[in-house]
Amino acid sequence: MKVLKFGGTSLGNSERIKNAVEIVLQESKAFVVLSAMSGTTNRLIDISDHVLKNNKQKALKSAYKLRNQYHSIAADLLKEPEKAIEQINKYFAILENQIQVSPKPYTEKHIVSFGELLSTNLFYQYLKQNNIKSTLLNATELIRLNSKNEPEVEDIKSKLENKIQLYNESRIFITQGFICSDIEGNISNLGRGGSDYSASLFGAALNADEIQIWTDIDGVQNNDPRIIDSTQPIRKLLFDEAAELAYFGAKILHPSCVLPAKENNIPVLLKNTLHPDDPGTSISKKTEGTGFKAVAARDNITAIRIKSSRMLLAYGFLRKVFEVFEKYETPIDMITTSEVAVSLTIDNEIHLSKIIAELQTYGTVSVNNNKTIVGIVGNIMAEEPGHAEKLFSALADIPIRMISYGASAYNMSILINTEDKKRTLQALNDNLFNRRK
Ligand code: ASP
Ligand code: MG
Repeated sequence: MKVLKFGGTSLGNSERIKNAVEIVLQESKAFVVLSAMSGTTNRLIDISDHVLKNNKQKALKSAYKLRNQYHSIAADLLKEPEKAIEQINKYFAILENQIQVSPKPYTEKHIVSFGELLSTNLFYQYLKQNNIKSTLLNATELIRLNSKNEPEVEDIKSKLENKIQLYNESRIFITQGFICSDIEGNISNLGRGGSDYSASLFGAALNADEIQIWTDIDGVQNNDPRIIDSTQPIRKLLFDEAAELAYFGAKILHPSCVLPAKENNIPVLLKNTLHPDDPGTSISKKTEGTGFKAVAARDNITAIRIKSSRMLLAYGFLRKVFEVFEKYETPIDMITTSEVAVSLTIDNEIHLSKIIAELQTYGTVSVNNNKTIVGIVGNIMAEEPGHAEKLFSALADIPIRMISYGASAYNMSILINTEDKKRTLQALNDNLFNRRK
């Protein structure tokens, strides 16, 4: 069985939902994971913000508006919309109740969960009205987080096996992406964009033949299409290359999505619902050629340098530095060292002032913000000469603050000023990709 996940834009209106169903029905049996319809999660977050600020009237008004929109979508999509409308009203009655009662710690998560509940219900009703045997499963019963807020993988497997057996005669199984329950059984979620991760977890639990992620882009592009005109699609990526790219916000795939698929060796196929015939990008452990495949950039990076003569020939210095970041739960992305200094980057400044204050006990600290990490991803084999030379000649005119090469065989990263981003991406495009043709 394959897992097919559809993102919000692929479900954006009744026509798009019908289109997604058509794609699903190419399969004799399928497990479908859905995001909320585009825009809905943001609207629900606004409603939840009003509730948390005790702005009940605004929250209610916004909820009524959203409910009416869903009534229209149901009427558009279904010949007999009554049942769907009844279910929509049930969800909104619970939502209104959440708005009226005093907020609990899980209120926000409860409110945002309705996006996926609504989309899956509409999809299910549409299949049912077209006489397709289908089962709607509730993801909050399938994915449970443990005390570290991580999904209990074995648990998903056993629960899914039971359900699939129980509803054995079903052709299509449908469930929500993104939502799950926490260790206490309250509704929770996997974070923004988390539906890809859900799909990957379900794919791994089912030992699926393939995980298809359907969006509105023709696969992964070799450069940022918002900045560079002539980007090209990449047809094949290794799991490790995809994981590196996902970090850089190659918007198409949630970073956590790669790991469950990789560990279980389940190919991931990224496809475009608008161009279903386009081959998209396949991610697997099968490699094709070496060299650079894609570049991507991540902004809002802060570089921190700690300089200390105590570092010279000393051991344990880096541990002390890292412990400061661990204490303030701030991930480090890039790191470079010399004998007397270490430079590293973070993309979360919430605890920056406290981090700096503690680091100052170990040496002189300097901080630069408005930096961008540019990742150059590919199968960059260390045994093959020439990769660094190619890269550096492309970057001849760009001031570079940090370089990281050799951490993995799939990534080289440079840290630049954000104001130089466009010309850096362009220079890499001209020299690494276009020159070859
Ligand atoms: N609906 C959620 C979001 O907008 C999850 C997802 O789409 O992946 O973040
Ligand atoms: Mg998404």
